[in-house]
Amino acid sequence: HPDFYGVDDLLTEEHKLIRSSIRDFVKREISPYIEDWAQRAHFPYEIVRKFGEIGAFGPTIPHEYGGGGLDYISYGIIMQEIERGDSGMRSTASVQGSLVMYPIYKFGSEAQRKKYLPKLASGEWLGCFGLTEPDHGSNPSGMVTNFKDMGDHYLLNGAKMWISNSPRADVAVVWAKNEEGRIHGLVVERGMEGFTTPETHGKWSLRASATGELVFDNVKVPKENLLPGKNGLGAPMMCLDSARYGIAWGAIGAAMDCYESARRYAAERIQFGKPIASFQLVQKKLAEMLTEITKTQLLNWRLGVLMNEGKATTPQISMAKRNSVHTALEIAREARQIHGGMGITGEYPMMRHMMNLESVVTYEGTHDIHLLILGNQITGIPAFY
Ligand code: FAD
Repeated sequence: HPDFYGVDDLLTEEHKLIRSSIRDFVKREISPYIEDWAQRAHFPYEIVRKFGEIGAFGPTIPHEYGGGGLDYISYGIIMQEIERGDSGMRSTASVQGSLVMYPIYKFGSEAQRKKYLPKLASGEWLGCFGLTEPDHGSNPSGMVTNFKDMGDHYLLNGAKMWISNSPRADVAVVWAKNEEGRIHGLVVERGMEGFTTPETHGKWSLRASATGELVFDNVKVPKENLLPGKNGLGAPMMCLDSARYGIAWGAIGAAMDCYESARRYAAERIQFGKPIASFQLVQKKLAEMLTEITKTQLLNWRLGVLMNEGKATTPQISMAKRNSVHTALEIAREARQIHGGMGITGEYPMMRHMMNLESVVTYEGTHDIHLLILGNQITGIPAFY
């Protein structure tokens, strides 16, 4: 909630049940502690097992591999409710589900699926996804991380940067070029010689999520760790589509949290002898927040239906991701203003959401890159290069 247009009527009883159970979980396990974790830049590793228990990892992955066997609307709802708590917590779940389990499920062999998916679903293992490099962010096709065929194994060299979950990850799905320059996915496991995951410190955003590098110094990767099902840049892009869809739902969860806080605060805060909610300018802010949240809810729901039907396109997903994150960031800022000075403290969630959302604007395709994807769709002219 809020639910101004009765979007609930478009949901099944199962969807609503999932929402209330995830919401209860977030209220119990995340909200009371998140401010402290974020202030201390502490990644609460124990949340990984708990996410596994509630089915937050790989909700759309079939039961036989430990997933939830749910539809995409359920996945969206789970991301929305977790991000109502915190975008960093949602990032942990997005990466594990859409960027680690999804490629292993879609492009992995049966042996790889059986080896990795149940442990990732339960939270026994934490995973990360290595695409971005220090010199190649928006243009991942320029990556230099590479592997050579050494006969009985591959030799992996290179480095990835800005990798969510990396400092604590047990497994990494890593995208690297073979000797012909073709991009492939490899599953790299902690403990392989030459593989390290230094943490990135000093972030002002997603402070409760651990971010780091992946460094490969002549890492011997067994041949059976190559994902055989798909290669080329399209493979990681399929993973990103799935994650971006979840982010579209997630970011609006953060917006809802800010809106609810502003609505409550405006009713209670007295200035000039009246609740500030009685002033037109405050009402304008609240009315516009609700309008944008409502539009986004409908866009996300419709995109969820298209995802379920296997019809959603990359530009549609770009529109939803870009719209949600932008909307959420604007709402966080307006909600912060409604709280006046109190809005800058950790007693209220807006500053944390606002700072988190700055990362969400940039990762999984920046705000401007998604605009260019839409521009290309509209005009048929790619303006990226
Ligand atoms: P750049 O690509 O250098 O972009 C800088 C600016 O230039 C941006 O505003 C961009 O829009 C603009 N720009 C670039 N090219 C164009 C163009 N053609 N036209 C117009 N404008 C352009 N990556 C992973 O692989 N795995 C992860 O788990 C992961 N987690 C992350 C977590 C955090 C907290 C952050 C901040 C990032 C994470 N990333 C991850 C990386 C993220 O996806 C990249 O930061 C993002 O793709 C942008 O790359 P960049 O930072 O190198 O910026």
